[in-house]
Amino acid sequence: MNPSNPARLLAVLASALIPALRCSAEVNEVAKLAPEVYFHEGDLKAHGHCNNGWIILDDYVLVIDGNFPSGAKEIIPKIKAITDKPIRFAFDTHHHGDHAYGNQVWVENGATPIAHEGVLSEMKKYETGLFGDKPGRWEDAAKTRPDVAASKLKPPTLLYKSEMIFDDGRHRVELLHFGVAHTHGDGWAWLPNEKILFTGDACVNGPYNYTADGNVGDWIRTLETAKKLGAKTVCPGHGPIGGAELLEDQQAYFAALTAEVKKLTGKEPDEVRQAVEGIRDTLKKQERIARYVGNFLPAQVEKVFVELGGKPFLPKTATADDHDTAPQFRPHTAMRSNARPVPVQQ
Ligand SMILES: [Zn+2]
Repeated sequence: MNPSNPARLLAVLASALIPALRCSAEVNEVAKLAPEVYFHEGDLKAHGHCNNGWIILDDYVLVIDGNFPSGAKEIIPKIKAITDKPIRFAFDTHHHGDHAYGNQVWVENGATPIAHEGVLSEMKKYETGLFGDKPGRWEDAAKTRPDVAASKLKPPTLLYKSEMIFDDGRHRVELLHFGVAHTHGDGWAWLPNEKILFTGDACVNGPYNYTADGNVGDWIRTLETAKKLGAKTVCPGHGPIGGAELLEDQQAYFAALTAEVKKLTGKEPDEVRQAVEGIRDTLKKQERIARYVGNFLPAQVEKVFVELGGKPFLPKTATADDHDTAPQFRPHTAMRSNARPVPVQQ
């Protein structure tokens, strides 16, 4: 580029900004990523909602992520405002409440919940109330979320082992699984024609990495596989949309976290707990990954420490156990770590 030509410089700058603007979607607003391909950043702070996507195929709509029941109800009218094609499938990227508890709402609107088969087995593990054992996470979430209390748990009924493909000749959507990351059943939706990747919470854009149901070491490897797809647009499970760098940043965060925890090998759990704030400072100084550091850090440090052979912290880390009632995922209490859950107004 010749900097002495201001008109040319402006034109180049403008063309560089257009994709950036296209991707700077606002919370609760529909963003068109490509013809018939949409992204919707959920309102995590106020309602615990996850991000959604949808693809309008020839005969029907495929939705990415089930969301909470109130999240499903938020976007169904937005989809219907764009197309009169039936919403036929809702793809749960994983089993957590903010991605799958809306399934019943999708069913009531004519759609079938789909997922990697690991989502059903994770539900059997954590959602024991439905499967004949003691109450599970659904019942816990229903205590603080009227939308959950008013609906019912609906596991996905259409499952895939390694991939499931939707292809109408114009759009191709590949539902994939690359191994353990955020959970043991993470599904990815890959649009090879548009080079758009929907990641669920296997990749987020902000301080939202809940690690208890996954494995951080595997997560780094799984992200490596996902990077090989060559995505140009990455739609994370939470936080703003990004480009290919988002997968890199997410992976870099876990690599840096692991490197810090490794330095504490052989220490007592209490010493590691006391080191958490120091790790926070170190990670916050790294510009590329600073935005990933948040309330989940003590639980993340503990998780990596245990994966590396250390003992768990005692008493339990507050954010270690329950994703759906962790502060970030509670309605109206997001980011206020000690706030009591407040029922959401519908
Ligand atoms: Zn989530």
